[in-house]
Amino acid sequence: MHRFQYAGNALHCETVDLAAVARLYGTPTYVYSAGTVEDNYRRLAGSLDGLDVQVCYALKANSNLALLRLLANLGAAFDFVSGGELRRVQAAGAKVNRSVFAGVGKTEADIRLALEAGIFAFHVESEPELARINHVAGQLGRKAPVAIRVNPDVDARTHAKITTGKSENKFGIPLAFAAAAYAAAAKFPHLEVKGLQMHIGSQLTAVGPFFEAVEKLIPLAQQLQRDHGITYFSLGGGIGVVYQDALASGSSSWWEALPPDQRPITPEAYGAALTPLLRPLGLKLLLEPGRFMVANAGVLLARVEYLKRGQGRNFLILDAAMNDLVRPAMYDAYHEIVPLQRDTSRRALKVDVVGPICESSDCFAKERMLQELGEGEYVAFLSAGAYSFAMASRYNVRPLPAEVLVRGSNFELVTARESFEQMIAGERIPAWLKQGNQA
Ligand SMILES: *Cc1c(COP(=O)(O)O)cnc(C)c1O
Repeated sequence: MHRFQYAGNALHCETVDLAAVARLYGTPTYVYSAGTVEDNYRRLAGSLDGLDVQVCYALKANSNLALLRLLANLGAAFDFVSGGELRRVQAAGAKVNRSVFAGVGKTEADIRLALEAGIFAFHVESEPELARINHVAGQLGRKAPVAIRVNPDVDARTHAKITTGKSENKFGIPLAFAAAAYAAAAKFPHLEVKGLQMHIGSQLTAVGPFFEAVEKLIPLAQQLQRDHGITYFSLGGGIGVVYQDALASGSSSWWEALPPDQRPITPEAYGAALTPLLRPLGLKLLLEPGRFMVANAGVLLARVEYLKRGQGRNFLILDAAMNDLVRPAMYDAYHEIVPLQRDTSRRALKVDVVGPICESSDCFAKERMLQELGEGEYVAFLSAGAYSFAMASRYNVRPLPAEVLVRGSNFELVTARESFEQMIAGERIPAWLKQGNQA
């Protein structure tokens, strides 16, 4: 469920007319719905009924400071994958004592930063990483809390670039080696074994793979409770969202109208499937949602620059490009694209929706049926709150886009569009080059 809908023929976020946002702050601009994030957080945090749940938002999905503070105020902790992400949580004014540090390539500097900040635990991905964390903790005279990411070798049945729980992926330690890795961890003097972690992939649309993975890890969890006194089980993230029918999925009646076996995953279905498996363990549970928390809470607004009529093809050329939203180019991802001003009297036109970048991959949608649109009109990309701004770049010397947060009838700029001066601020021309000719 989300809070983007037409009121009359104007697309609104909560009760804000998105065309007003586009006119005031320009485009491309990301707009986020605080109410949708709050709903998502509450539904997921309450999904494992009666169990001790700590939600650690995986901020690689979207690390906007205002969203981090919103989630912290709701009670969320965080899952970070770099020292930079840890510092963003602190910059948002949130504590990190209930937060965890994941990722296969933690540097010594990042480990030191996390230990000094007093995080909840490191989620360790290899034996050499155990040794490195032990070494840094020893230098600081501390004990580092750790959990090992165990790879259950299940097929998450999602896109190949975002599946992580198969044995051929770079993530985690294989289940067959897990007991030995824990025994090794327990021998390090500066490590404290605290939990068990899994994360099998992203954008999972069914509960089955989660159930399968948890079921496979339960005997290990019980053994680790006995042998090492672990106190928590982290189930990772990965709950998928609706991209294909994004506008309609804002209402609960859309879900209810689908046959039960075709309903996309919901927190309620996730919780109902996993609670009976997890309750007998008596462990604290960590959830690390990224996409689920923010994807349907964001849209990207763009302006139509040209409608170019080609030979057998029409191109709708926008001022947004793959540098602003790379998911279609990178993952063949689908985003629903809708006009900010709907006009049912106009005919629909089949268009390729593209950006201005000099690459054929700068294409958001091929042969999409859209209401005929012209220069100066606006469109919104739906479900663009996750892995969208977070993956933006400056390719073609295009500044990072602006971000706006909506709450009820209010909206506020939370990230100013980058200026040209900011883009080149870190660059220098060496003195020896300045003596050369300037053609
Ligand atoms: C990426 C990641 C997440 C979040 O994944 P989503 O699919 O966005 O929910 C959670 N935990 C770990 C370890 C991750 O790498």
